[in-house]
Amino acid sequence: MKIVIVGGVAGGMSAATRLRRRDETAHIVVFERGDHVSFANCGLPYFIGGVIEERQDLLLHTPESLAARFALDVRVRNEVSAIDPGTKTVTVREGKGRVYTETYDHLVLSPGASPIVPPLPGIERALTLRNIADVDAMASALDQDPRSAAVIGAGFIGLELAENLHRRGLDVTVVEASDQVMPPLDAEMAAQIADELTANGIDLRLGTQATAVGPDTVTLSDGSVVRADIVVLAVGVRPETTLAKAGGLALGPHGGIAVDAQLRTSDPSIYALGDAVEKYDALDHSDLLVPLANTANRQGRLVADVIVGDDVHDREVLGTAIVGVFGKSVAMTGWSEKRLRAAGRSYRAIHIHPDSHAGYYPGADAMSMKLLVDTTTDAILGAQGVGGEGVDKRIDVIATAMTGGITASGLADLELSYAPQFGSAKDPINMLGFIADNLRRGVAATVQWHELASLVAEGAQLVDVRSKAEHVVAAIPGAVNIPVDELRERLSELPAGQLIVHCRVGQRGHTAASILGQLGRQAHNLDGGIRTWHSGMSAKTNKGKS
Ligand SMILES: Cc1cc2nc3c(=O)[nH]c(=O)nc-3n(C[C@H](O)[C@H](O)[C@H](O)COP(=O)(O)OP(=O)(O)OC[C@H]3O[C@@H](n4cnc5c(N)ncnc54)[C@H](O)[C@@H]3O)c2cc1C
Repeated sequence: MKIVIVGGVAGGMSAATRLRRRDETAHIVVFERGDHVSFANCGLPYFIGGVIEERQDLLLHTPESLAARFALDVRVRNEVSAIDPGTKTVTVREGKGRVYTETYDHLVLSPGASPIVPPLPGIERALTLRNIADVDAMASALDQDPRSAAVIGAGFIGLELAENLHRRGLDVTVVEASDQVMPPLDAEMAAQIADELTANGIDLRLGTQATAVGPDTVTLSDGSVVRADIVVLAVGVRPETTLAKAGGLALGPHGGIAVDAQLRTSDPSIYALGDAVEKYDALDHSDLLVPLANTANRQGRLVADVIVGDDVHDREVLGTAIVGVFGKSVAMTGWSEKRLRAAGRSYRAIHIHPDSHAGYYPGADAMSMKLLVDTTTDAILGAQGVGGEGVDKRIDVIATAMTGGITASGLADLELSYAPQFGSAKDPINMLGFIADNLRRGVAATVQWHELASLVAEGAQLVDVRSKAEHVVAAIPGAVNIPVDELRERLSELPAGQLIVHCRVGQRGHTAASILGQLGRQAHNLDGGIRTWHSGMSAKTNKGKS
């Protein structure tokens, strides 16, 4: 059996090595048009920042090491330029030299994605980051002692690059067309990252587009001009489908290669995977693009198993992702609230702001978590987390729960490891479950930060149940202050009608709403407290600017 693989990095090399582990006799040829295979794409921004000091550390394998351990025939600087499905051959160009053909029994395409480059004047000067050649170009630009950089695009890679260029001592401007950083997140969560970037000296231009790149500047859509000795473009990627299209393979609605659950393309002898293919969404089963390493690597393993004859199938994707930004972690899985709203799904949102571990044990980090829940089935639809230590673990637990079909209320019952330096006896995951369970069973009722203004306009009374000292520092306009411990005695001070209680993060508010409810008053708790409201309002201010 002869298997030809196009693309020798994440997905392609996972497929090649798994194939060898499954079949010692197969002839496996890997074509890679770049100079390197099996390199650490995800580490590239950190080499730019000097966190990864040695370029060599990015190179995990060489054709020689892969030949020695896996008996793979790996050919770098060999670009596959055509597929002929009829004769089962590929055409290969070796460097700038000879062109030859190679036959296959099975062809596996893992050609990745290519950076989107908008047609702006001067854009040729902008750098992108996808492979070792790109990182070398960026490193040599940094050797010219630039003082400033503009990063166009505030998605995952843009923010990693912004931080790492800042780490190298450059003045960094981040330009983002959307009115928030990290567009897949919900605005009130993303606002916390925007604050972090600004606090670290990044000049953040939201709701603004780059319109032209000059010799040492970038002109923006609001007419301003920012200094940029280096310009980095990170506005997203599109699936690399040149070869697939030329070979007559079907594409999906988003322009990725269409594959079935066994990663077969429209030609049964050709498989495709990774960033180049369309995946299927775990919630609504629709096609979508998820250019992430975890899916590419797992698909690489799966395609090998399919080729050797196993009856295995790819899972639908949640899009679980994480990025670090100046010491904060930002992670998400599943759908965001804005996506649920746009799709007309019925959902409820839950915000909490727990500590990463028991508050009495030194060194706890604050985090904000958001859970999205199907109001009919109690299924978990998505989650987001922003904060320090422990965000990764909580999002991964929720992604695992979603994969396993555990409901939102079911999170209350998870038995999670605990000691004070690692978590809380009631872990943030359990807390989300408790709230979901209370809301599902009608034991509690909440309102969201973005509903507050209209509820107040309709006559609801805001009641701040924090201490007087907290209230005088910052309060939601129009709120009366009755600390939770005084509520029972001061009940008569509250007007008739709907009451919206709130505290800092929602916990005392829950107690207050419970007291009021049992004393015959109609009370809702402000979900996530004043902290979520504040983040939401700051996101609204950004929107207003754009
Ligand atoms: C800077 C950066 C940081 C990232 N960080 C993260 C992260 O933290 N977490 C995460 O989940 N994901 C991250 N990713 C995304 C992740 O790297 C990709 O999802 C993953 O590498 C996709 O694997 P792939 O096999 O589809 O494509 P790739 O790994 O990109 O490999 C495709 C290879 O195919 C080769 N190729 C294409 N066409 C041909 C051809 N015709 N002939 C021969 N060779 C060809 C290309 O040269 C390329 O080397 C990051 C990506 C980048 C660029």
